[in-house]
Amino acid sequence: MAHSTEPRWITRIDGGWRCGLCPHHCLWTPENPTGKCRIRGLRDGVPALPGWGGCVSLAIDPVEKKPLYHFHPGASVLSTGPAGCNLSCSFCQNWEISQRESSTRLVQPEDLAGMALSRGSGGIAFTYTEPTIWFEYVMATAPLVREAGGFTVMVSNGYVESGPLDEYLKIIDAWNIDLKGWSDRFYPEFCGASIKPVLASIEKVAASGSHLEVTFLVIPGLNDDPREWEAMGSWLASHAGRRTPLHVSRYFPRYRLETPPTPLETISRAVESFRAHLDFVYPGNVAGEENTLCPSCGALLIRRSGYSVEKAGISGGRCIGCGADAGVVQA
Ligand code: SF4
Repeated sequence: MAHSTEPRWITRIDGGWRCGLCPHHCLWTPENPTGKCRIRGLRDGVPALPGWGGCVSLAIDPVEKKPLYHFHPGASVLSTGPAGCNLSCSFCQNWEISQRESSTRLVQPEDLAGMALSRGSGGIAFTYTEPTIWFEYVMATAPLVREAGGFTVMVSNGYVESGPLDEYLKIIDAWNIDLKGWSDRFYPEFCGASIKPVLASIEKVAASGSHLEVTFLVIPGLNDDPREWEAMGSWLASHAGRRTPLHVSRYFPRYRLETPPTPLETISRAVESFRAHLDFVYPGNVAGEENTLCPSCGALLIRRSGYSVEKAGISGGRCIGCGADAGVVQA
């Protein structure tokens, strides 16, 4: 089947084209033909999608690795993403594929959808870099996965305009969105962006009924002020809901940041702080068990060790002990 590879969300203006897919609103001109994300822009003076279908990596991962802990626990998912990103985080943990030219493999939507339901995979995850910038390709692929009975996942920085997000919400079953910091300076100074669109995306996804989990990477000296954790936890509880799972992840030095890894005690303190506001808070990038307990009776629902998962006390999404809704999809 032939797919349209023409960019959407663009507007003709004097001297070029304005892209409205994400809040950067890049201007594509003959002098500056490529958007900040590097996969959208002009080719030979005409709007084009040089990144369409170019998969930077293809792997079948545990869904827990996305991370999603409350969505199809124990499932595997075909994971891929484009060779670019609309943010430029100085601490990027995947910078080799998000911030540099990378080799890609062109995969047609039908082929990707077929791969998403083979070799034990239950669906597709658009992940690794920033998949919301891959709008036209995701729109061509995700519905095929769903039609074939698979699930669809988006792991995103949330830096996307609300119109495209509305369309994504029609075809994506589960989201993990990064909330990278809370202070006024964090997003502009370390990510080349602003926080407001990210908060708007989290709110919109939470209100949509799609499954949502949030990841917060704790970086020493940059976003480890307990007063910010307090404000962030309170905001998440009131705008996304206290049952939104939060992954509090340990940072390791990558890309332009040489700060040493986050001390384990800092992760423990952050987890405790967020637990005052949220029912499901997990340490990430640390060894050990990360279990899910019933928020009503405290019974063990899901035991996790590494990527091994045991549904110990959950059935039909409910706690076997007290019958409470455990806030887990397909368990
Ligand atoms: S999606 Fe890419 S080209 Fe479009 S505004 Fe964002 S960074 Fe710029």
